[in-house]
Amino acid sequence: MKEKRILFVSYTAVLGGGELCLLDFAYAYRDTSQVVLLTDGILKKRLEDLGIKVEVLESSRSLAEVKVSSGLASLKSIGELWRLARQVAQKSKDFDLIHANNQKGFVVAAIARLLGGAPVVWHLHDILTANIFSKLNRLVAVTLANWFATRVIVNSQATGEAFIASGGKDRLLRTVHNGFDSEIFDRLKDNQATLREELGIPRNRHLIGMFSRLSYWKGQHILLEAASQLPDVHVLLVGDALFGEAEYTEKLKNIAAQESLKGRVHWLGFRQDIPALMKACDAIAHCSTAPEPFGRVIVEAQLAKRPAIATIGGGTSEIITNGVTGLLIPPNDPQLLADAMQQIFSDREATQRMVEVAYSQAKIKFSIPSVCAEFEMAIA
Ligand code: UDP
Repeated sequence: MKEKRILFVSYTAVLGGGELCLLDFAYAYRDTSQVVLLTDGILKKRLEDLGIKVEVLESSRSLAEVKVSSGLASLKSIGELWRLARQVAQKSKDFDLIHANNQKGFVVAAIARLLGGAPVVWHLHDILTANIFSKLNRLVAVTLANWFATRVIVNSQATGEAFIASGGKDRLLRTVHNGFDSEIFDRLKDNQATLREELGIPRNRHLIGMFSRLSYWKGQHILLEAASQLPDVHVLLVGDALFGEAEYTEKLKNIAAQESLKGRVHWLGFRQDIPALMKACDAIAHCSTAPEPFGRVIVEAQLAKRPAIATIGGGTSEIITNGVTGLLIPPNDPQLLADAMQQIFSDREATQRMVEVAYSQAKIKFSIPSVCAEFEMAIA
């Protein structure tokens, strides 16, 4: 059991990749630590179910309105940040450090440090690139990190490189990958029949799954365009629009309704039984149109022993060696994705070899004990 006393601070309480990662580290330190959420949501229940102490310091709407793409904070939201920071600073007196798990959480933690709170570690799960984060947003985040963070933990080297390119100090960085419990996957039977029957997918059809929130940069549209060229392929879309991307969801529904895809796209919404659903697929696609900070779903596909096809960019090449542990293709290219799918479905022997190597590597490299050891060193 870990001894350091950590006050974990998270602004969001939805279950995105960053929050799922937080669950593992907060669990490892559960005897000495606590989580503070700045919004209420499903993450609270998941933490409680794991026996982790959690408290919600709810922030007002003014903070929710500050978008990472603009970064412009109203005077009201600055006052709100200050109010939350004072509370976090006060609480942190009983802890050795504050671990901030997302950008808004980090801004609050940095101000808390300024107000005399415990040392701050920022766990950065995002690639700070211009297409997602405004210049102002990056400037504020990186300047606060350089001044107030004792460490910046990044989920991949690619995330670290983007931090430095935005002006962040190299010496602050430590890479800690996400961890996964392979036994959850190992315990599942390799039985694909039930879900396929429920969805009405004939036995002789291939099923390719995508497990991501519905968002343009996650690229579900690329998968649908690729599948429209392959009449034997059915698509399983798992995930929801976690951050209000209603327009994009509408666009996807329109593509799926086209004659060439009719009856072949299956929507499951947000699910918490990802390993079992992956086992029901023949392959997993990861189609991000912009560099992916890490790509949890790729490791999950590897542990489920399903071939993964992912787009090049960001952390994906730290998980997949092309042709050895999965396939890497350039982003935004439905034709290349369709070719990769055909390659996987036609050359079964090569695919099986790839799947076995990927499983053995992922099981060791991304095990919970291994990433917890990385985490412990990073915060030492
Ligand atoms: N996920 C989930 N339910 C869903 C869709 C996705 O639990 O319906 C999980 C998925 O298994 C993965 C995480 O959400 O662990 C997404 O992490 P990833 O790094 O792929 O992307 P992010 O959301 O962090 O950008």
